[in-house]
Amino acid sequence: MSEKIQLFNTLGKEKQEFIPLNKGQVRMYSCGPTVYSYIHIGNHRHNLVDDFLKRMFLFNKYEVIHIINITDVGHLTSDADEGEDKMEKAARKEQKSPLEIAEYYTQSFFDDLAQLNIIPATQYPRATAYIAEQIEMIKELEKKGYTYHAGGNVYFDTEKFPEYGSLTNKQHTEAYSRTGKDPNKKNSQDFVLWFTKSKYEHHAQVWDSPWGTGYPGWHIECSTMSRKLLGDQFDIHTGGVDLQPVHHENEIAQSNCAIGKRAVNYWVHNEFLVVGKEKMAKSSGGFLTLANLKKEGFDPLDFRYLCLLTHYRKQLQYSTEALVSARNAVKNIRKRLSTLPKENKTADAASIAKFRTLINDDLNLPQAVALLQEVLQEGSENAYATILEMDKVFGLCLDKEEQLAIPQEVRELLNKRTIARKEKNWKESDTLRDLILAKGYKILDSSTGTTVEKI
Ligand SMILES: [Zn+2]
Repeated sequence: MSEKIQLFNTLGKEKQEFIPLNKGQVRMYSCGPTVYSYIHIGNHRHNLVDDFLKRMFLFNKYEVIHIINITDVGHLTSDADEGEDKMEKAARKEQKSPLEIAEYYTQSFFDDLAQLNIIPATQYPRATAYIAEQIEMIKELEKKGYTYHAGGNVYFDTEKFPEYGSLTNKQHTEAYSRTGKDPNKKNSQDFVLWFTKSKYEHHAQVWDSPWGTGYPGWHIECSTMSRKLLGDQFDIHTGGVDLQPVHHENEIAQSNCAIGKRAVNYWVHNEFLVVGKEKMAKSSGGFLTLANLKKEGFDPLDFRYLCLLTHYRKQLQYSTEALVSARNAVKNIRKRLSTLPKENKTADAASIAKFRTLINDDLNLPQAVALLQEVLQEGSENAYATILEMDKVFGLCLDKEEQLAIPQEVRELLNKRTIARKEKNWKESDTLRDLILAKGYKILDSSTGTTVEKI
């Protein structure tokens, strides 16, 4: 394998060399959205950081298996176990069933990802499709003595897991002091694995379980689905910093106790996107979506560029002015790029080596963008090829203008071929390739998708 990769591991609070469990492969899990409303651009910063991380590994010739969960089962308003169920609240407000709400916002999430040129995850498991597995995992924890029953619910007993809090090095109670009190808990940091529905409760999504009809606690779905789809132990778990103190501590407790060893090797957390001093949050109501930005005349890729300019472990200061300069910068890069000679198809090895060193150093994308600007200004005969090589990680579609110059009929044939390949219809796919060739274009398949190039 290629060069050393360093990542800041929240577990241990230091930059560490990345060593995969399986040679040449990265198994990665990211906490995905709760689909009860549109995703705001603060969440998209997280999705973009995941994408940059994934593209860095692909650039280093790793295979990446990436899972993003879709939380389509309601969980409560706060990260802890109290409050009103968000999905129920949205369903009531919009007069739809919780599943209709979930499906609508899941599709909107996928649309956003495509517009931001985010490489799709390997799988997007829905929590409601893994209820039986969640019940199994709770039973396993119960058998091993990590649970207790109170008020009809099943709780995780954090006293039985002395390492609890290792991610944040915080006294558990600190993280919980902002929420109310559940009198059933032995310790405030204990959390619910299974809620049993009370007869006074209006909860539409319920399932049978050995503990009575009810619904799972929020944290168990991530432990269950990551284990099911990536194995007992995997390489990287990502999420926003807000998930560290409760959700991720709880995931660690559940997973490590169930398998009897450390489940995740590297925890990668991104900082918030902030407006003034406030972090953008769904629950506060004042948030911007990608659709809002588009209405203002921005391209989603302008926002993508903006996210490259601040290191993922620093807060990103968002403002319209910042987005305007990002838009201008992207425009200028494209303009300058179109004037560069395109004959030389080999990227400059020295620049690419420099680029790799930067991105492999805990994803130093701001410096990598500065390098792109340097190469662009120098404008050597292979600058064009060098920049397109770098764009495999930036994902800005810098040759977009040229892609648009491809005739409509060729693009349609290419789409049909992509579908044929997905359906494993190889004969059809070969016929379409020949048709594309006959029109004077050759096909370039890569891990980030397929494009064509004039012969
Ligand atoms: Zn999660």
